[in-house]
Amino acid sequence: MTIGDAAHGPDPEAKSTSKSFPWIREELILACELYFDHGCKRVDHNDPGVAALSTLLRSANYHTVDLSDHSFRSHFSVSRKTSDLHTAHPDYPAEKKRSNGGEPTARVVREFLADEAGMRAEAKRIRSSLTTTLHAAPLPANRTLLQIQNMRVHRAAGMPASLHKPIALLWALGRLARGEVPQVRWKQFRDEVGPLLEVFGHESSKVTLENPVWYLRTDKIWEVNGLTTPDDRAPSVSRLDAVNPMVGFTTEAAADLRRPDIRAAAVGYLLRRYFSHADQDALLARTRIAPDDATNVADTEVRIPGPRSTEGGVPPGRTSSTTTRFKRDPAFVRYLKGLYDDKCQICNSPMRSINGGSRSEGAHVRALKEGGPDSMDNLLVLCATHHVEFDGLAIHITDRGDVITTDTGEVEGHLTFMPGHSVNLDHLRYHRALCGRDEHPDVQRRPGQGQ
Ligand SMILES: [Zn+2]
Repeated sequence: MTIGDAAHGPDPEAKSTSKSFPWIREELILACELYFDHGCKRVDHNDPGVAALSTLLRSANYHTVDLSDHSFRSHFSVSRKTSDLHTAHPDYPAEKKRSNGGEPTARVVREFLADEAGMRAEAKRIRSSLTTTLHAAPLPANRTLLQIQNMRVHRAAGMPASLHKPIALLWALGRLARGEVPQVRWKQFRDEVGPLLEVFGHESSKVTLENPVWYLRTDKIWEVNGLTTPDDRAPSVSRLDAVNPMVGFTTEAAADLRRPDIRAAAVGYLLRRYFSHADQDALLARTRIAPDDATNVADTEVRIPGPRSTEGGVPPGRTSSTTTRFKRDPAFVRYLKGLYDDKCQICNSPMRSINGGSRSEGAHVRALKEGGPDSMDNLLVLCATHHVEFDGLAIHITDRGDVITTDTGEVEGHLTFMPGHSVNLDHLRYHRALCGRDEHPDVQRRPGQGQ
């Protein structure tokens, strides 16, 4: 395994153009899938698969790019990437000249060779997330974000990718979200991240805290200060305990990740890539990326009986007793509200309640009682007015994010998205079908409608 190459981070692709958009891992996986589809041969720029991938990558939100730049992920560019993949293949003759694919390209080829079915499943997931959701406009290329997207994770044979680095990163991102310093003593890392690895790591994987804390350095976003090892192997836990070094984000990475948009993109990326089947709500809560909502008094107060005596009756001398319990949003709802700074995704107006607390609302696109999932991709952050209008079918949303007045068909506005948050198009279609403006297999045409 070579660590050094990763220092250069992403591929040095498109050197000839003034702007460089390094291929991120998702793009490389899709290109490698195409390369494997063609029996591990370079794919010509006239190939229909190349054209389809070019279209898909140009419409993805991985990079901020002026799409009048026709060279960006053009047919030629995609075809050239299959050449890079080909020369990175271990069977490629050593004496022949290799193109400049870089280590991330070579790594994806190795991963396909080691586990083609697993990588094809990964490609399918990437493809579906690109074609089935409404999401934020692309972010400007950001070095820290690219390093996270190209992060190396340990992958033992026959095992899923280790989650130790992603969990440690989420914990560190939670600290930045709360305005805390980006580096802490090792012992604090040990005591706080250790339990997270036990809960959210793979069941079969041993908790080895020294690995993520040490090898995150190779992704160039992390430091362990005041400790060196002779051969760059991870130091033992006892050595870390003895030295107790400062560990955490580099100054540069911390500066990038303090920006809410970059941080949101990083959190969204980590959740999508590593925790799609995990309990994301618990993960956001435990890493404390979702803010606590102690000050956010929910509008649903539930009055419940006060404490009873041990005999089970009402305590003597008190005819009635109530305590007030406030409904608490799930962690992912709190996370999204924080992401949008409690502003409505339609009108961008912040909602303030009488007591000054913020009152943005999490609106399910497809209602839970109608089979919608309680997940981020079925949720919009709206003000009370737009929440009522949306639930009342007075407005609906197109696949492009236009907000339409259902009665008149007029475009009322456009949905704002933050990086890392996306909404499933199928849920939007379901809602439009309720409005009588689309069809959905789960929505019966109502009597008298559309006759
Ligand atoms: Zn609004």
